Amino acid sequence: MLGARSAAPILLTFLLPALLLAADPSHTRNVILVTADGLRWQDLFHGLDPLLANEKSVSMDPASKDADDRRARFATRESLAPFFWTTLAKKGVVLGNVNVTNAYRVSYPGYSEILTGRASDDIIKGNDPIQQPHETVLEFLKARLSLSKDRVALFSSWDHFHYIAEHTPGAIFINAGYQDSASSPDLSRLQHVALTPWDEARHDAFTFELALDYLRQHQPRVLVISFDETDDWAHSHRYDRVLDMIAAFDAFLNRLWTTLQSMPAYRDSTTLIVTSDHGRGSTLADWSDHGKKVTGADKIWLAILGPDTPASGELPVHAEQRDIAPTIIKLLGQNPSDYKGATGSPIQSAFRP
Ligand SMILES: [Zn+2]
Repeated sequence: MLGARSAAPILLTFLLPALLLAADPSHTRNVILVTADGLRWQDLFHGLDPLLANEKSVSMDPASKDADDRRARFATRESLAPFFWTTLAKKGVVLGNVNVTNAYRVSYPGYSEILTGRASDDIIKGNDPIQQPHETVLEFLKARLSLSKDRVALFSSWDHFHYIAEHTPGAIFINAGYQDSASSPDLSRLQHVALTPWDEARHDAFTFELALDYLRQHQPRVLVISFDETDDWAHSHRYDRVLDMIAAFDAFLNRLWTTLQSMPAYRDSTTLIVTSDHGRGSTLADWSDHGKKVTGADKIWLAILGPDTPASGELPVHAEQRDIAPTIIKLLGQNPSDYKGATGSPIQSAFRP
């Protein structure tokens, strides 16, 4: 039997962690960031765009049965992206008023702004494959949380992420473009024969399945999954394929969230952040395009779902692309001001008051 003297430290040993946990406002242990390249708010927030719905020049021929099928299936935002609008938006926060602050409104500057919390306009001026000039939030978190390399991972369809995602080559785990993954030998082989029309990007389906296999085997605390096809099909003027890939993207999110909630390492302790690198135009002439000269290409969107985020749904709150990295840092219980050089701030609506 324990005397009063020896009971106190034992009580403290058992109670202290519980008390600390109760006082800790952050419940997020893992963050998963998912991006869809150039996915327009015009489509995600409204469903099939009436401007393009019957437009032959974007493969939506009014007389086509295939286009008819898409016109029927993707008419509303809930039918185009059911997980996004019926689960993510209901249980989390969706912001439709988010701005890119870099001047270029193309992919590398956008992903760099997301992953470094700043617009690096003097160095990252386009999509040239140059090494990221700043320590990324992924590298910062790996050091700050003392994580091994395999627990900070990025899977992307676009091969340029080897340059974008890290300042120090080899700092984190990156699988980008047509690259094999030891966690998925069969899919690794298949991706080289199921080719896209573009040399720099593999199909998003491979990126997703490879990331999911990796997640199950390595359980990363910080994971980025970056999809490409919503951008490249738009550049190819294939609105039919853009719609297909938005629906596929939504299905990926659904499977990802279901998988996370089925794993003890992730259930109720994981925040999912979903966004885009840039917007694109709103007219028939420029819906497929983006960049400095395209009006509205700086307009993006953002969604957050997780244990620290209130179920506020769609909010008219303004945020900026550079706010995403500080938000991730704060979600993981760290101080965003320790991440030097970032100019964004944590998004308040991502946190319960
Ligand atoms: Zn593009």
